[in-house]
Amino acid sequence: MILRVALDLPTLAVENDGENLYDYRWGGSAVVGQRAIVPFGARTLIGLVVEIASNTKVSPDRLRDAAALLDDVTPFPEAWFALIRFAANYYQRSFGEVALPALPSWFRRADRYRVSQQNGLGKATSKTIERLRLRRDRSASRRVIGALQSSPEAIPKLNSEQAHALAVIQAARAPDALFRPILLYGVTGSGKTEVYLRAIESTLLAGRQALVLVPEINLTPQLEALFRRRLPSACIASLHSGLAEGERASQWWLAQEGRADVLLGTRLAVMTPMPRLGLVVVDEEHDPSYKQHEGLRYSARDLAVVRARIGHDGRPIPIVLASATPALETWFRAESGRYEKAVLNARAVTAASAPTIRLVGLARTPTEHGFTETVRGAIADRLARGEPTLVFHNRRGYAPVLACSACGWISDCRRCSVHAVFHKTDGHLHCHHCGWQMRVPSACPTCGNTDLAPLGRGTQRVEEALTGWFPAARIARIDRDSTRKKGSAATLLDAVHGGDVDILVGTQMLAKGHDFQNVTLVCVIDADSALYSHDFRAAERLFSNLTQVAGRAGRGGGERSRRAEVLIQTRVPEHPLFAALIAHDFERFAASQLAERRAAGLPPFSYQAVLRAEAGRLAAAIDFLNAARRSGVEVLDGPEPCALASVTLYDPVPMVVTRIAGVERAQLVVESPSRRALQSFLANWMMALRGVHPRVRWHVEVDPYEI
Ligand code: ADP
Ligand code: ZN
Ligand code: ZN
Repeated sequence: MILRVALDLPTLAVENDGENLYDYRWGGSAVVGQRAIVPFGARTLIGLVVEIASNTKVSPDRLRDAAALLDDVTPFPEAWFALIRFAANYYQRSFGEVALPALPSWFRRADRYRVSQQNGLGKATSKTIERLRLRRDRSASRRVIGALQSSPEAIPKLNSEQAHALAVIQAARAPDALFRPILLYGVTGSGKTEVYLRAIESTLLAGRQALVLVPEINLTPQLEALFRRRLPSACIASLHSGLAEGERASQWWLAQEGRADVLLGTRLAVMTPMPRLGLVVVDEEHDPSYKQHEGLRYSARDLAVVRARIGHDGRPIPIVLASATPALETWFRAESGRYEKAVLNARAVTAASAPTIRLVGLARTPTEHGFTETVRGAIADRLARGEPTLVFHNRRGYAPVLACSACGWISDCRRCSVHAVFHKTDGHLHCHHCGWQMRVPSACPTCGNTDLAPLGRGTQRVEEALTGWFPAARIARIDRDSTRKKGSAATLLDAVHGGDVDILVGTQMLAKGHDFQNVTLVCVIDADSALYSHDFRAAERLFSNLTQVAGRAGRGGGERSRRAEVLIQTRVPEHPLFAALIAHDFERFAASQLAERRAAGLPPFSYQAVLRAEAGRLAAAIDFLNAARRSGVEVLDGPEPCALASVTLYDPVPMVVTRIAGVERAQLVVESPSRRALQSFLANWMMALRGVHPRVRWHVEVDPYEI
């Protein structure tokens, strides 16, 4: 028999078929969806059996034997194949390039297995330690559940909006329901989590599994703890990039064997096979971290929708997209009726009104270390009352650049076309793009002047200023630098929840989802840079970030909640974005943004893809893109020109950050009002681009988030 095996290799040759499968001889039994250990050149790889055939086009002298078939994982189900196939086609990758990276690395490393011969067939055994670990983890999670069962917390009674939202989700589970994703739209604190928790509960009661995606790894412990309390007899698995290889394998294994009832995970969890899947939830569905920026550049939110449409046993399953500030793509679909909308207008906790948002103009107001007197006074007021303050500043490090006042030298990264950021905590300059670092020079490298000054400010500098003004206050900082060590984010957040922090300074990391009960003041030091970005999604992102940040204030209810305020410092208080923000009016903001996008023909009114090239020199990248553009034009003029007529190919341009780690980058945008036309064009174009391009690396990204 012939095994047709998918490997994690790009489709290189034109003559290779669409799925890019490799044929191997095998004399034993085999099932589609099993993994196989196979030779490839001088290497040994793990691949996935996609087809079983009786003959092959490969000549007998070149046909090789599969080394072994693996049976440590249940063969992948048909629905999973359908999802991977969709992703491969949609994102213009080979089947194997999508399927294999979707598995935890543990299950695709041939060196984890020992192959021996038995009755003329290869037999694979894995070192048993990891399998024992799988068992141990499983019993551990059961014990934890048992222990918590004895302390049930008060379960809130759903308010009428919540009850209605839940009914909408339940209706989508009816056998004859048409597939329509549900947008659960509600202000922060309106009880969205409570709604989908109930939906999960009834999914589990029906004997099915739930997949819950969250944007941020630091959110998983909080949500996991809630799920464990509220679903005490359920087996809950979680998947995120912070897990060690063995842990990740065992959590994935629990989900894919059908043992885990709930899988809670970041974007990488979306492709986990789940044999009893009955509900998908995407929390904070607008969050940019659902987009993967390397390898298969997918949107986990979009794939989650596809996954729910494929569903289970040939029937779609409900999907809930939850957000206070939905992505405009999602909002547009809900407005046009393709998605169902369930709305929560009020905060769930009685009397927890929305915080007051006030703008603090910077134009004619003096500041010290970036703070106006108003904001400093408000912080002092909260300190006197013993209420915590959040200070939000979306830039880490001490200062974005170090400069010489004598000659104009500035701290540029040696390998990138960006400045290296000054970090005072470790006395180094760091490039946030390539990781390059060097000790802060004691004198200007160009003129020897010893008076080097930090320009602008990052979270470290904000923290320093606050410490100077409020020496007795307990101040903590949360950003990517202060949370690099495993567990440090959780420790910091616990300190905040436990009332051990008076002022918390942080980047958008602290904005996401955290339910800080006592915070009554949120300050935003500088909201403006995003307003002048070249990126058409910058305003959308700013609105959502500020809404998120504002949502951290006054969640506890009562008198504190009434006093809660959000102070935003800005140079352009008259900007319409702020008017909508102050009115807590996402819908107004969305309508005006969509009008602009419609006029400009931007997503969601068009679909985009981008071809990016990297080379040692920018000219080589641009040359490649120009050649690619010419072959694209040929495709457009080819045999099916009418169908593709709506596709626009733009000119190649250098990327905004042109050089990263010594590599120069350029890109070319492709756009069409028709998704189908764009897809069909891309498929033909990729075929034409295959082959060898010395000195240039390239990839295509479909639905790019930033261009
Ligand atoms: P969201 O996910 O919309 O931000 P949450 O689900 O986290 O909101 O709810 C915010 C707070 O309100 C939580 O402390 C939650 O326990 C509480 N809550 C949710 N629903 C209700 C309800 N029906 N009655 C009382 N409190 C509720
Ligand atoms: Zn100098
Ligand atoms: Zn760099």
